[in-house]
Amino acid sequence: MPPANRVRTQGHFRASPGPSRPSSTVAGETTPPAPTSSVGQAPSLPSLLQRATDRESARRLRHEDYTIGWICALPNELAAAKRLLDTEHAPFPQGPDDPTFPYNVGRMGSHNVVIACLPAGRPGTNSALSVALQMRSMFKSIQYGLMVGIGGGVPSPKNNLRLGDVVFSQPDGAYGGVVQYAFGKDIPGGLRRTGHLSAPPEHLLNALQELKIRHSERNFGFLEHLSKLTEPDSPFIYPDASSDFLFPASYRHVDSDDAVGCAECAREKRINRDRWQTRTGDVQVHFGTIASDNRLMRDGERRDEISKKLGGVLCFEMEAAGLMNHFPCLVIRGISDYSDSHKSDDWQKYAAATAASCAKEILLLIRPVASQLSHFFLSE
Ligand SMILES: [Zn+2]
Repeated sequence: MPPANRVRTQGHFRASPGPSRPSSTVAGETTPPAPTSSVGQAPSLPSLLQRATDRESARRLRHEDYTIGWICALPNELAAAKRLLDTEHAPFPQGPDDPTFPYNVGRMGSHNVVIACLPAGRPGTNSALSVALQMRSMFKSIQYGLMVGIGGGVPSPKNNLRLGDVVFSQPDGAYGGVVQYAFGKDIPGGLRRTGHLSAPPEHLLNALQELKIRHSERNFGFLEHLSKLTEPDSPFIYPDASSDFLFPASYRHVDSDDAVGCAECAREKRINRDRWQTRTGDVQVHFGTIASDNRLMRDGERRDEISKKLGGVLCFEMEAAGLMNHFPCLVIRGISDYSDSHKSDDWQKYAAATAASCAKEILLLIRPVASQLSHFFLSE
């Protein structure tokens, strides 16, 4: 049974009601939900947002109406983000000098959001930076960014990180939330890392703190978004839990032409994680350092070695290091593998869904700037 259903029936979590009511995502064909306010009463926030939705479907917004940039690297990540839009806006016409990649625009809560995906076959920090800079040059009012997608986890008994979990970049004493682990000087004895990546701005960190407080109160707003993404027949449904297994860092994947996945890898080598730290639910959210660079981590021993040198990282990914000094953003990664040689793609879609769900949760906690509020409410 998918975890979203189990969550509802077992009562592990209490999903927050959320400030907005999802509706159709086709521009110009918005289907309004049932009215939520009564005659003689002040209109509720959902009804105000719905009326705003109706106005949006009737006209195209301006570039400067968009204040949040959402960047992802893979088509599945883009698809998950688009499904979570409360309203999808009509795309802007693109001129001959505009970027070749399309922008997807819409609204989540009271934020107008631009979503862009890296070009096919062009992962990495430079590609991410190029997309971010082009986005900001076209949408000049963008204030904050979210880098949302999948990542390779660094599991340990202490974090008991599992496939489908989500990692938020969060500064600690030494790092700003993201570390470019392979950037530096080669000197006798190894690499000396150089350079410094900026931490997210205070405004985003305040929202992150609010999210952590809510989670400590067992108020997990992302579950509502995740349940929407994992409805029956969705491509983002929960994979078979039996396919989440972990091997020791030193045990390498056994490859063969006939085998699928880890069929040739020794089952008795799988780590029994029953005595690792107790988990609070099927999808657990972690906060800490993310390691980033232009290389795919597929080596368990190297994974653990780098993590140890950096004082413990939660996941590896390939884009964030290009963004942090140029695009003020939070990085949100759904864990789709364990950064070792047993890596497979089986959990990518679900991990993309959990990451997008958590991104929407924190987006709704970011306070909109005054100009956005006036756009939605002053013309009522
Ligand atoms: Zn294997």
